[in-house]
Amino acid sequence: MNLILLGPPAAGKGTQAKRIEERHGLVQLATGDMLRAAVAQGTETGRKAKPIMDSGKLVPDEILIAMIAERIAAPDCGNGFILDGFPRTENQAAALDAMLAERGRRLDHVIEMKVDEAALVDRVTGRFTCATCGASYHDRNHLPKRAGICDVCGGTKFTRRADDNAEAMKVRLAAYREQTAPILPYYRARGVLSTVDGMAPIEEVSRQIEAILSAPSRPAESVREC
Ligand code: AMP
Repeated sequence: MNLILLGPPAAGKGTQAKRIEERHGLVQLATGDMLRAAVAQGTETGRKAKPIMDSGKLVPDEILIAMIAERIAAPDCGNGFILDGFPRTENQAAALDAMLAERGRRLDHVIEMKVDEAALVDRVTGRFTCATCGASYHDRNHLPKRAGICDVCGGTKFTRRADDNAEAMKVRLAAYREQTAPILPYYRARGVLSTVDGMAPIEEVSRQIEAILSAPSRPAESVREC
């Protein structure tokens, strides 16, 4: 099964992708995480991407397309993958189609996580993660039970993303509205798009996603018509 989670920044795509990964044995492919790893490793891609990411704009398509093409060809993606943060432009969506066709694979579901933009600014300005295990926290509504100690792994180092601030968030939301949201009708027309309420509690969002994943996906014939 191959899925896309689509939604604005901080809609909860990463949280839900991890849950789907565990339940269905799929691999989460989070392009933001891949780029942040490239930045941390100081690769050429990382050096190019860092100032763009910090500003909230999108990194050029060719970098992302090459990254995903290499990743989905890897053996661990054989059972299927969850794309989290890709595609984000019409060019990326078209490139993904070509990659899947080349490998004789198809897209089973595109799940849109619908959220209220005002709430997203509040979500990002305050979020931080455990540097060891990646568990997420928030200054105002989800602090570790013991101050400074991760509930999950006991780690004591925490990180905040450079682009999780109000100014970059404005740019990130505009990029979503102007460059990513226009992909939605493309997937709707193909009958693969479903929408969940990203404002609902995490468990409820998971329940809605599970209901979509357990429904039969469209017949194979319609794939060829697209
Ligand atoms: P994310 O962690 O998904 O919020 O991504 C963080 C940042 O990485 C974005 O604001 C972009 O600058 C960059 N990025 C991640 N995925 C993509 C993509 N598919 N296309 C272009 N830029 C991306």
